[in-house]
Amino acid sequence: MTSTDSTGALVRAEIDVAALRANAAVLAERLAPARLKCVLKANAYGHGVEIIARGLFAAGWRDFCVATISEGLRLREILGDDATILAWLYGPTTDLDAALAARIELGVSTVDSLDRLRDAAHRTKTTARVHLKADTGLGRNGLAPADWARALERLRALAPHRQRGGSETGDPEKSGPARTGPDESVLSLEVVGLMSHYAVADEPDRVETAQQTQVLESAHRELTAVLDEAQGRLGESDRLEVHIANSPAALTLLPFPGTSARVGLSLYGLSPLEDRDSQDLGLAPVMRLVSQVVNLKDVPGGHGASYGLTFTAQNDTRFALVPGGYGDGIARSASNRAEVSIRGIRYPVVGRIAMDQMIVDVGAGEVAIGDEVVIFGPDGPSAAEWGTWADTINYEIVTRISDRVDRVEIDGRKSQGHESRKTDGEDVESTRGEGAETQ
Ligand SMILES: *Cc1c(COP(=O)(O)O)cnc(C)c1O
Repeated sequence: MTSTDSTGALVRAEIDVAALRANAAVLAERLAPARLKCVLKANAYGHGVEIIARGLFAAGWRDFCVATISEGLRLREILGDDATILAWLYGPTTDLDAALAARIELGVSTVDSLDRLRDAAHRTKTTARVHLKADTGLGRNGLAPADWARALERLRALAPHRQRGGSETGDPEKSGPARTGPDESVLSLEVVGLMSHYAVADEPDRVETAQQTQVLESAHRELTAVLDEAQGRLGESDRLEVHIANSPAALTLLPFPGTSARVGLSLYGLSPLEDRDSQDLGLAPVMRLVSQVVNLKDVPGGHGASYGLTFTAQNDTRFALVPGGYGDGIARSASNRAEVSIRGIRYPVVGRIAMDQMIVDVGAGEVAIGDEVVIFGPDGPSAAEWGTWADTINYEIVTRISDRVDRVEIDGRKSQGHESRKTDGEDVESTRGEGAETQ
C-alpha cells in the first residue's frame, strides 16, 4: 500500500474497524445491563469521526456522545436521523436552535441554559431533550450543589401547567399568565437523563469515586421527585437515563453505577489504567500510525542530529529519515526518547522531532528506503508508551494527530493474511490482527 500510493500523505493512520467493532462488543458485554454510549468527540479521539461513526453504526450502535454542538451537527450529517446524539459543551451565545432542529440532546450545566433551551424549543416548535448534569466533585462542568437546587426549582416552574380549568388551577377565569404565553400543552423541555463525570476513576484506590456516586444517587432521588410531581410533564422518572461512568469507571467499577456509560478511550482499544494495557483488558488498538523510510545515510561517530544537535552519534551509525513531526501531531516532547518499529525491530528517535520529520538511528539494522515505519499501533510502540515519552497520556497522543495525516479505513479481517507490502522486491506478510480474530 505505502509504496504504490504516490499521492497520499506520507504519514497514514490506519483505522481498523474490525478492532473497533470488537472493542464495542467487549465493552457492551462488560457493562450489561447498562448500555454503551459511544463518545466520538474531538474527531473520534483523532481517529476520524466519519470512519468511526459509520463503522459503529453499521455494527448496530445507535447511541453517541460528543462534546460540542458543532460536533453533534456533523455527526447528525454523517449518521442521519436514526442515531441518538448527546452534546454537553456550549456557551451562553451558542445557537441552540440548530441543535434542537437536529434533535441533539443536550447536557445542562447552568440554570440559565434551562431557560434558553425552553425558549429555543418554543421558537423551533421542538422538544428540548436534556440531561441534567450534576457536578458531583470534579469541579469542571455541571451544576454545583447550590445550582442543582436552583435548577430543580426552575424545572418545577418550567413544567407546563395542566389544561386551564383542570384540577390544579381552580377558577379557569383567573388562570395565570401562561394563558398568554406560548402553547403550554407542548412538552417543550423533556428531562431524559441525569449525568455526571468522575474525577479519579482511573485510580481504583481513591475514595472520591464512591463519594461521587453517592452524590449522584441523591441527585437522582431529588430529580425523580421533581419529575414525579410534574406527572410526566417534564419527562418520565422511570425512563430516566443515568450516566456517570467514563472508560476507567466502565472497566473497573462493580457494582456498575447508572443505566449507561459514556465510553471514549477504550472504544478505540486503549487503556485508561496505568497498570493494565489494551491486551489485559481484551481490547485492540484501532489506530496504527505509520510512515516510511525516505532517506538513509551513514554518519560518522560525532555527527549530530536535528535542530539544536541535541543528539550526537557515539559511533559510526546510520540515520533513517522518517516523515512525521509535530505538524502531524507527533509530540516534539518525545524527542530523544521515543522509539519506532521497522520490520518488527525497535529503533530510537534521535534528536528533536521537527515539524515534518524525525530521525531514527537504525545502526546496523536491516532497513531499506521505502520500509514501513510503525510509529505506534498494535505491532509497534503503544500510544501509552508515546504518552510516557511525551510526558502526557495516550488520550492526547491519538487525539492530537492532525489533518495532514490520512485516515485509511481497514478491516482487520481483510488485512490479516492478505495485506502485504513490498520491501525490496519480497513480500512481507503483515503481522497485524489483534482484535481481528475476535470478529
Ligand atoms: C471525554 C468524556 C467522556 C469519555 O471519557 P473516556 O475516559 O475517554 O471514556 C465521558 N464523559 C465526558 C463528560 C467527557 O468529557
